[in-house]
Amino acid sequence: MPEPTVPELLELDRRHVWHPYGPMPGRQEPLVVESASGVRLRMADGSGELVDGMSSWWSAIHGYNHPVLNEAAREQLTRMSHVMFGGLTHEPAVRLAKLLVDMSPDGLEHVFLADSGSVSVEVAAKMCLQYWRSLGRPAKQRLLTWRGGYHGDTWQPMSVCDPEGGMHDLWTGVLPRQVFADPPPTEYEESYAEHLRELIGRHADELAAVIVEPVVQGAGGMRFHSSAYLRVLREACDAHGVLLVFDEIATGFGRTGALFAAEHAAVTPDVMCVGKALTGGYLTMAATLCTSRVADGISRGEVPVLAHGPTFMGNPLAAAVACASIELLLGQDWLAEVNRIEAGLREGLATAADLPGVTDVRVLGAIGVVQLDRALDDAAMKAATDAAVREGVWLRPFRDLIYTMPPYVSADADVARIARAVCAAAREG
Ligand SMILES: *Cc1c(COP(=O)(O)O)cnc(C)c1O
Repeated sequence: MPEPTVPELLELDRRHVWHPYGPMPGRQEPLVVESASGVRLRMADGSGELVDGMSSWWSAIHGYNHPVLNEAAREQLTRMSHVMFGGLTHEPAVRLAKLLVDMSPDGLEHVFLADSGSVSVEVAAKMCLQYWRSLGRPAKQRLLTWRGGYHGDTWQPMSVCDPEGGMHDLWTGVLPRQVFADPPPTEYEESYAEHLRELIGRHADELAAVIVEPVVQGAGGMRFHSSAYLRVLREACDAHGVLLVFDEIATGFGRTGALFAAEHAAVTPDVMCVGKALTGGYLTMAATLCTSRVADGISRGEVPVLAHGPTFMGNPLAAAVACASIELLLGQDWLAEVNRIEAGLREGLATAADLPGVTDVRVLGAIGVVQLDRALDDAAMKAATDAAVREGVWLRPFRDLIYTMPPYVSADADVARIARAVCAAAREG
């Protein structure tokens, strides 16, 4: 079969391929990428390259086609791409678990390797519910979170995503009913801390865990909040016998200016999920870490095992690349790079605040957000994306948000270009 032309690919794509959060057949034509290198996507239609302002949904922190990650994948490929993880183990998975335990907040000792972020959140929920069941408290099976969150698209994660305006409000009434606090204010407010304490106390008998995204709520609305709330949650959970889960799938591996956002508050959760940047954006893998208290609790129960075991658990190829990505990150002054990007985004996005229809501009670490006074419909979304493409940048706005989280290897000129594209998208969207 001859290689299809770009129009042929697009026609087949439209007819057969479901895209994220999309209808079938698709309403909007995607761009076809031929290859990617560094921070640039090369387009198949011959139109040239786009600077990637999205890091492929927070994941490609070192950029594309990185020689070190390529070599790790190639080297592992010659040994084995995969073997089952039941009854077998291997060096890449063991080394990855050790790296994660060493780099994560003190007290997280055990690692469950999952195949995507959503699955790692499922595992976190299962761990917490099973912990209480093992301790003879089966009524503790609900989760508490604050509004405005996003934790993935499978069932338990959906139940703790923002119930309104999010991607899953269709399922209200079908999903497990969780306990929702108000969205966390940006700055610390004692009255909000009191609201969290009160809600956790009131529902303690039925709560297995509190689960939140620390410091940055990602796909639920790209909002930032005071890290002091994490301490409030830790103290309230301890006081009332509730486990604390941090979903660091978006925030992990340096994105917010700390290796993990939990470090902003020096808090250790009982369970922590990581994903997205774990493999530097190469392969799908996530992990759920927990403390010895959680693991011991589960192991004392009537069913003393964690009944979860994905087919591709611990995939050696993904684990080898994850190890290389983590070593690459820790082997450089990653904080200086994130701070450099933060400064570039602050400077480049400063003028966005004056644009008509812009209600807020916020930057934290290597994350820049421009919030509009309106949600973008299909036509406005296309206009915004096209405006960014004309600036030579790939952006994927959603709802009322034009945002970027560039790869950490983005040069200053590329960060400036991304910021110009965000402004252009905000103007024309
Ligand atoms: C992306 C994301 C998830 C889901 O991860 P997938 O790999 O897409 O399943 C969960 N939680 C947070 C905070 C995320 O950003």
